[in-house]
Amino acid sequence: MTTQTSAPQAPTTAAGDYATRYAASLMNTFGPPKLVLTRGEGPYVWDVDGRRHLDLLGGIAVNALGHAHPALVEAVSAQLGTLGHISNFFTSAPQVELAETLLRLLGQPEHGRVFFANSGAEANEAAFKLTRRTGRTHLVAAEGAFHGRTTGALALTSKEAYRAPFEPLPGHVTFVPYGDVEALAAAVTDETAAIVLEPIQGEAGVVVAPSGYLAAARRIADEHGSLLWLDEIQSGAGRTGSWFAHQHPALGEPVVPDVVTLAKSLGGGVPIGAIIGVGRAASLLEPGNHGTTFGGNPLACAAGLAVLRTIEDDGLLARAAELGERLRAGLAADPRVVEVRGLGLLIGLDLVSDAAPAVVAAAQDAGFIVNATGPRRIRLAPPYVLADDDVATFLAAWPGILDAAEV
Ligand SMILES: *Cc1c(COP(=O)(O)O)cnc(C)c1O
Repeated sequence: MTTQTSAPQAPTTAAGDYATRYAASLMNTFGPPKLVLTRGEGPYVWDVDGRRHLDLLGGIAVNALGHAHPALVEAVSAQLGTLGHISNFFTSAPQVELAETLLRLLGQPEHGRVFFANSGAEANEAAFKLTRRTGRTHLVAAEGAFHGRTTGALALTSKEAYRAPFEPLPGHVTFVPYGDVEALAAAVTDETAAIVLEPIQGEAGVVVAPSGYLAAARRIADEHGSLLWLDEIQSGAGRTGSWFAHQHPALGEPVVPDVVTLAKSLGGGVPIGAIIGVGRAASLLEPGNHGTTFGGNPLACAAGLAVLRTIEDDGLLARAAELGERLRAGLAADPRVVEVRGLGLLIGLDLVSDAAPAVVAAAQDAGFIVNATGPRRIRLAPPYVLADDDVATFLAAWPGILDAAEV
């Protein structure tokens, strides 16, 4: 038997060089990066070795307009060249206009109020604090839920592997099976501050709430004087083909939530989070209760406005719905796919075998970026600006990707 004694080979590719430097300079929280990316355009990104990839993950449901969209680039560049950051001692037109736009899209132009943060977890953290202002502390969340990695958001996240290293977390949270109305009714009491639900559980693998579940949650919350808080961080900003997933007809009769949290696609790649309070929830956070240095700055709000305006002007809601239908039908056509879920461009599927990581790798080899949310679960959250040809190219490659991954 021979023993390898020579030093590890020096990396020869640019990607290898960055991988080595990454490992030597960044904390190992995400595992080794799969690619080193240098630029993007539309739904495509290019890696440091010059290869083009069709980005069907969109920065995890963030790049609604794809990469380097002219409207977003122009809005952000112009804003930064005019006024980038001012603190919340002051306000700016983009901040007020984005808040007004969100309230209009939610259908609450008069009874809602917005607080801007910088990320999803931060928006949820603000909402968590808002619920405490009811004078109650009990929260009911769902099994499979993901609400973020800060301690408050983590307290509402059910995954044991994420929680265990950081316990004790802020407390008094009951988890119930997602979609089970009876279990929800049994868990909510007159001590419950809020029910928090994702209309579509994204990180769980794109699990859509059964039709009528949100309406039932609304009734249960009302019976006990609790708030209904919908986490639309992944599902909102047009991704499902509706501005908010809870407005999508597939989820049943319309509900008016008390609290909605948003982030991801809202900024199209510029960090922003938002919490919208409706009715009494609009004024539970009082002067001094909460704050942020960066949240609501003109730069991030100009980005949010550019994203929402472009979706509106270019008819991208209808486009997201249509592209999603086509992708789901095409993916489901292969017998090695046992279930396809989702609405619009938030898509999850289950494979017949535990081959999801191999499918991600095979897709990447073939020039497509997708993501695994479990051993046999694949998620797609592509930009709304995909072309028909992009969808056709991916669907044509799909059976070969499953072959290569030996699904
Ligand atoms: C991504 C996500 C979060 C956390 O957002 P971050 O910006 O990563 O902090 C919270 N809730 C849901 C539903 C998410 O998908």
